[in-house]
Amino acid sequence: MVPDHQQSQAQQLLDTGVDFAEISFAEAQRQFPPLKQSYARHAMLDRTTADVDVDLLHQGFLRLIKAAGGEIVCKAPVAGIERLDGAWQATTPVGTFCAPILINAAGAWGDEIARRAGLTLKGLQPKRRSMAIVPLAPGMNVMDWSFVGDAGETWYAKPSGGRLLVSPAEAEPVEPHDAYADDMTLAEGIARFQEAVDIEVTRLEGSWGGLRSFVPDGNPVCGFDQHAEGFFWLIGQGGYSIQTAPALGELAAALIRGAVMPGYIEREGLRLRDISPARFS
Ligand SMILES: Cc1cc2nc3c(=O)[nH]c(=O)nc-3n(C[C@H](O)[C@H](O)[C@H](O)COP(=O)(O)OP(=O)(O)OC[C@H]3O[C@@H](n4cnc5c(N)ncnc54)[C@H](O)[C@@H]3O)c2cc1C
Repeated sequence: MVPDHQQSQAQQLLDTGVDFAEISFAEAQRQFPPLKQSYARHAMLDRTTADVDVDLLHQGFLRLIKAAGGEIVCKAPVAGIERLDGAWQATTPVGTFCAPILINAAGAWGDEIARRAGLTLKGLQPKRRSMAIVPLAPGMNVMDWSFVGDAGETWYAKPSGGRLLVSPAEAEPVEPHDAYADDMTLAEGIARFQEAVDIEVTRLEGSWGGLRSFVPDGNPVCGFDQHAEGFFWLIGQGGYSIQTAPALGELAAALIRGAVMPGYIEREGLRLRDISPARFS
């Protein structure tokens, strides 16, 4: 949605090259019925958007790891990391793990893992984002509704599992930690959401927060460290690690095996130097 005071942010979105189509308010309301006509005179639609079933995706990845003979070891925080006799050794409370290649996919803790391995950090900044589940009137079928938000990214809402999720879309810089929602930020975001819709929110059914982590140029960091043999970076996916995981995972696997970039990624115009760990030096 493009409220009048967010015309410049709408233009910035168009400048990113995403194929947005201008749609009428009636069409916007058909896709998200509670929208208030007084909120915005303009609306844009990204026709390429699709929803990801995150649980199904994660379960699929787990099945692939197990089918390939892999093992997932939980509750094993890596305390020490060193390179000994051509292999990385990661020390944890449940044992020491050795391998010639170490993949640093520690999310918000990516720079912390690098610090433990004695490497130069990438300036990774975790940013908190909160989410709330908004109660709905009985019989309301939200699963036909679209994802909707404002051009300035100050709130967004989407149906999920028969419920409506609303986010204040904050990007609050924080230290890496097990994040939780910030109540005041949620309340402010819900207030902005209510300016746009005819849904009265008097309580929340639940809330949670998480971290989205960025390096200064906003691109992921994917590739071998240029100084530390066998240390592979896979961090900084920002707010897109779920939707990019299948392609970025395939690309990482190709780089680790010394294979070429998968053709479908190359055709999208990705340049390895834009995601290379070496671009910071
Ligand atoms: C509210 C919200 C909405 C989002 N919406 C979207 C969206 O619409 N689309 C999208 O694509 N993405 C979205 N994201 C972003 C996405 O969730 C993240 O980018 C993604 O979870 C990051 O995945 P990751 O595997 O890189 O890191 P994580 O999921 O953080 O995994 C890192 C793992 O490393 C482990 N670890 C860290 N340190 C150590 C250590 N010392 N020893 C052992 N293990 C360690 C951690 O325990 C963790 O399990 C959203 C995020 C939030 C918070």
